[in-house]
Amino acid sequence: MRRLTRALKAFAAPQEPDLILAQARALARQIPLMYIMLVINVLILAGSHYGTAPDYLAVLIPGTLTAVCLIRLVFWWRRRNEMIDADQARRTLGGMLWIAAALSLGFTAWAIALFPYGNSYQQSHIAFFMGITTIGCMFCLMHVRAASLIVAACVLVPFTLFFSTTGEAIFTALSVNMVVVVVALLVILLGNYRDFSSLVASRSAIAQRQIETQRLSDENNRLANVDSLTGLPNRRWFDRHLKARIAALPAGHVAVALIDLDSFKSVNDIFGQITGNRVLTEVARRIETLRRPTTFLARLGGDNFALIMEGPTNEALMQTCGDLLCTAMRSSFDLPGATIHLTISVGFAASTAGDDAEQLFDRADYATSIAKREGRGKAVVFSEQHACEISKVRSIEHALHTADLESEIYILFQPQFDLALKRTTGFEVLARWNSPILGEISPAEFIPLAERTGLICKITETVLRKALAAAKTLPRHVRLSVNLSAHDIGSTTAIRNIVALVEAAGRPCQIDFEITETAVMRDLEQANEALLSLLALGARIALDDFGTGHSSLTHVQKLPLNRIKIDRSFVADVAHDPTSRAIIQTTIDLCHNLGISCVFEGIETETQLGVLRRLGGTVMQGYLFARPMPEAAMASYLTNGRKDWDGAAEPHYGTTG
Ligand code: C2E
Ligand code: MG
Ligand code: MG
Repeated sequence: MRRLTRALKAFAAPQEPDLILAQARALARQIPLMYIMLVINVLILAGSHYGTAPDYLAVLIPGTLTAVCLIRLVFWWRRRNEMIDADQARRTLGGMLWIAAALSLGFTAWAIALFPYGNSYQQSHIAFFMGITTIGCMFCLMHVRAASLIVAACVLVPFTLFFSTTGEAIFTALSVNMVVVVVALLVILLGNYRDFSSLVASRSAIAQRQIETQRLSDENNRLANVDSLTGLPNRRWFDRHLKARIAALPAGHVAVALIDLDSFKSVNDIFGQITGNRVLTEVARRIETLRRPTTFLARLGGDNFALIMEGPTNEALMQTCGDLLCTAMRSSFDLPGATIHLTISVGFAASTAGDDAEQLFDRADYATSIAKREGRGKAVVFSEQHACEISKVRSIEHALHTADLESEIYILFQPQFDLALKRTTGFEVLARWNSPILGEISPAEFIPLAERTGLICKITETVLRKALAAAKTLPRHVRLSVNLSAHDIGSTTAIRNIVALVEAAGRPCQIDFEITETAVMRDLEQANEALLSLLALGARIALDDFGTGHSSLTHVQKLPLNRIKIDRSFVADVAHDPTSRAIIQTTIDLCHNLGISCVFEGIETETQLGVLRRLGGTVMQGYLFARPMPEAAMASYLTNGRKDWDGAAEPHYGTTG
């Protein structure tokens, strides 16, 4: 039973789509040949019986069969180069099997019907026609096992039955020959068919693997070039695109805009990362709606987006684009559970002759930093003035690198006056740089630069060494306050060098240190350790520029501070601005509660001094007392400087405060 089912299965069409398609392709090449052979053989056989057999057998039936063959020939000929799918191929093959069976039976019946009308030669011709044509057809159909089997069965069975019963021994022998040959042929054809189908299977497995490899490679490519959150091109893609556009377009025809979300960190901190991600997605959408089709938008990472714009551009056009972007971000982000207000800072730069991608990007980046510095929420276009600033910074940077710090850096001293003690209790040490190449450079310029290039630690050491030498000439109770940068606090080596320098100068220590909040914020633990080792020297620590940074009370509480220096921006407004006064009052109270002292910097008028005195301030520093002075002036200032500071008798804040 199982054998029968297996045998029947051999007649069924295969299920594998690739195999069916391959069979259809092979047939389309071979079947036309088969029909040509069939038609010629039929015509020859009909011709050899013309006149001896009745016309319906010699003309009509072979003519009809030939016509069917020609129709099928045209059908397959047309299919030769046609792209068909597996279903079409399956239908064609199914139909072809029925037609093969019908034609085989038709031709066999016709040939047998001719048999009585011929002499022995003609009868032999019929037997030869049937045998040779069957073998030829089986060869042509070898890629479709079922078709070969059908042809073999439909011809061989009637052939054998008919010829073995003619009573002619020679025809019986011929039918045995035919069975032997067809069976041998079938064995070979079935083996070939197996090879063919396994070749197709392995080819389709390879093709499948190739498709999978391609899919993985496309996916890798996508992951490598696309930002997964917003679906926008990422930094890698942006860099590649920018390089390509600069190379392809003339100068001035490529502009880059760098978009930075202001205070995005606090959105993440306050509302959580999920909301932060939603904001970023919405920002991407808003920019996308403003984007021209030729403009390339990318997310460079974090809260940074970028545009590459093409076509002639100018400052006004870029400014308009920037203003549009800024306005688009100003409307609130209404997200589930949070309504967020955001601003962006945008920097634009257009390509100039000889630019490479990096230079253009750097200029846009510089413009963004200016936008941030100038109050955020605005767009800045890189201009000639910015180019001059950059080249100035570069020349300062170069001069700083080659500077002989020991001879070029000198220090000035600004007194700090204690109203309660009525005397100058210390001086802040302020660095100055006299470059032989560039002349006097303000610390506001060279200190941030030295911080960026890492030279600041060397400058600190130079300043400290000079301050220690100056301290030796001062009375014991007068202290010198040296500014430290974030690099000094963050580096154990720098702190070790500072400690070594102070220790080498001998005791008692007359040095204090000023640090800023940004300096301690980077690594609170390391800052704490650094400050403790400075305190161990007998130095005092002051938190400088209080109120300008993050002004976190946590820092004040967690760090071993001796004093807080209130920034001069509060002092400047103290006489007129109730808010400044309120902040100062709160800070003074905080200092009292923590048992630390409070220093005011930047006092320029008697009025300011008067207000601060009334608010409870004691230690004062500012141009009112003295501008930063050279070392030689300190002794005379200490002896002859004014000591009856008291502030204006009547500060003018009674009505508003
Ligand atoms: P700072 O530490 O807050 O220093 C006070 C600055 O305010 C000094 O500016 C001082 O000259 C100025 N100043 C003092 N009184 C007044 C006043 O009444 N009105 C006005 N308008 N300004 C006043 P300077 O010397 O230009 O220093 C600027 C900044 O440079 C310093 O701010 C400090 O952050 C940094 N700096 C100066 N020297 C050093 C140093 O040796 N090391 C480090 N790391 N930074 C330094
Ligand atoms: Mg200072
Ligand atoms: Mg300060």
